[in-house]
Amino acid sequence: MKLPLAYYGESVLRRKAQPIATIDQTIRELVKNMDETMKANRGCGLAAPQVHRSLALFITCIPHYAGEKKISPGVLRVFINPKIVAYSEETEACEESCLSIPGLKETVIRPLKIVLQAVDLEGKKIEEEFSGFDARVMMHENDHLNGVLYIDRLSLARKKAIEKALREIKQRYTISRK
Ligand code: ZN
Repeated sequence: MKLPLAYYGESVLRRKAQPIATIDQTIRELVKNMDETMKANRGCGLAAPQVHRSLALFITCIPHYAGEKKISPGVLRVFINPKIVAYSEETEACEESCLSIPGLKETVIRPLKIVLQAVDLEGKKIEEEFSGFDARVMMHENDHLNGVLYIDRLSLARKKAIEKALREIKQRYTISRK
């Protein structure tokens, strides 16, 4: 089942997500629905707060490209109670967008590599290094669990430049749904 998205301006996106104590049927169902929601919206990552659930959980499905050619459609990965335990000093600037902030794309500087700890849907511990775009998706989604949006990481000048666009998103998506 496709779930309704939370959009910029909604308070659930600004809360710190609660850790998940037990991976039960409710969580498995949530993951299944988040997967459908992510794919229906052509996203490559989705965090639980983006579907109005303030839980420490995000999913990813990152396609891989060789140049312009898609060489892998990506596989669904589930990260429960994630924690980024290491960041590279080297950074990279790349464009990001967010399903919760439709229509906007901005360049964000982030570390090139990270080490992420989490548990998967089977409750198995994961500790994995990610780099490049994969690392970027993990950091973007992990930020959602701390109430942080990628636009918070922009320069003051860029923040000013997108103020109007953000106001419009807030009006169009948040207020019209109430
Ligand atoms: Zn996002």
